[in-house]
Amino acid sequence: MKKRRMDPIPPPLAVPAVKRRVRPEKDWEAKLAGLRRAGLWRSMREIQSSQGPEVNLNGRKVVMLCSNNYLGLAGHPALRSAAIRAVERYGVGSSGARLISGAMSPHKQLEERLAAFKRAPAALVYNSGYHANLGLLQALTGPDDVVFSDELNHASIIDGCRLSRARIMVYRHGDMDHLESLLRRVRTKKKLVVTDTVFGMDGDLAHLPELVHLSEHHGARLMVDEAHATGVFGPRGGGLAEEFGLQHRIPIQMGTLGKALGCFGAYVAGSRALIDLLINTSRSFIFTTALPPAVCAAAIAAIDLVEKGTALRERLWSRVRQYTRGLTALGVDAQPQSPILPIVLGENARVMRTCESLLGRGVFAQGIRYPTVPKGTARLRTSLMATHTRDHIRTVLTALKAVLNQA
Ligand code: PMP
Repeated sequence: MKKRRMDPIPPPLAVPAVKRRVRPEKDWEAKLAGLRRAGLWRSMREIQSSQGPEVNLNGRKVVMLCSNNYLGLAGHPALRSAAIRAVERYGVGSSGARLISGAMSPHKQLEERLAAFKRAPAALVYNSGYHANLGLLQALTGPDDVVFSDELNHASIIDGCRLSRARIMVYRHGDMDHLESLLRRVRTKKKLVVTDTVFGMDGDLAHLPELVHLSEHHGARLMVDEAHATGVFGPRGGGLAEEFGLQHRIPIQMGTLGKALGCFGAYVAGSRALIDLLINTSRSFIFTTALPPAVCAAAIAAIDLVEKGTALRERLWSRVRQYTRGLTALGVDAQPQSPILPIVLGENARVMRTCESLLGRGVFAQGIRYPTVPKGTARLRTSLMATHTRDHIRTVLTALKAVLNQA
């Protein structure tokens, strides 16, 4: 029998031109002009080296003072070689979503390692913290739920709340009395309290013991975001829940792999039922290509270092103490609870000017403005690394002294 030839791709249709074409750029340019006028224009810099305590920024060597690489693991030889070995064995891409073709051995190994690290029955890897928060809130809550959220929670939690279609009750930052009054006001059994454990732009800590108590007392589930605490807090680096010995009282714990762990991606740790529910219903887990296997292999190497990393954490705290003493001598109100110490300057233009003057003196601390932080609280978000030397801190303090006097 004669084979029928498949139809080739049909020839392109001629698209008739209209007389007056809409030019979307006009609207976009107007929006951009508004951002510029408000001092809110953002642009990216270029780091031309690996992420160490010093980096090459636009051709200049500067001290890095605004990274989340708290333990200095992003460039660590053990992570590099784990990633290289995995690339050689597994290649680069995962080629598909976890539930289709993308679930590879390094994903499974990382999840087993994470469950052991977090002392949880199970763990699940997400492609980023942003994905994890979106996917958790979407999967665990719906229009019948009420979510109680700290007003300074990360944007990914805020967006997850929006996606959940739950009723959202925002409590004043760290204000447990306010949270309690809101919890009392709501009759439903479907309550979820959600909080960062370390607030990324302020560096302060959530009141975890009170949050656990209030949640249990009012029959609410508690979800914590350990993005800035993983690797930094807890005797084994497991996070603030571990620091307080409360891991078993917090049913939903997420954290990221891209900060102190020096890699990329995120995890959720909890019961088998939680993880199975996420695998089956969490859209940001289901509908995305799985992480590259080499990232998972590097994350396993990072967890090994973090668990044994008491010396790294001690060094980090020692730098925090040195820096705090220096800041206080400069008249900056510094009361560190974590390696993040913001210097709040208030006005957008002032913070960006100060940031550029600091760069001129060899120190990189990015200015942070609305909507990342509330209006009128623009700041240099300075953060320390275990790999900063005492000399780095001295350089930073000398530069800050000069620029804060001018600012
Ligand atoms: N949660 C918090 C508290 C964060 O600070 C961040 C990132 N800055 C995220 C979640 C998002 O994590 P990721 O960068 O992995 O998307």
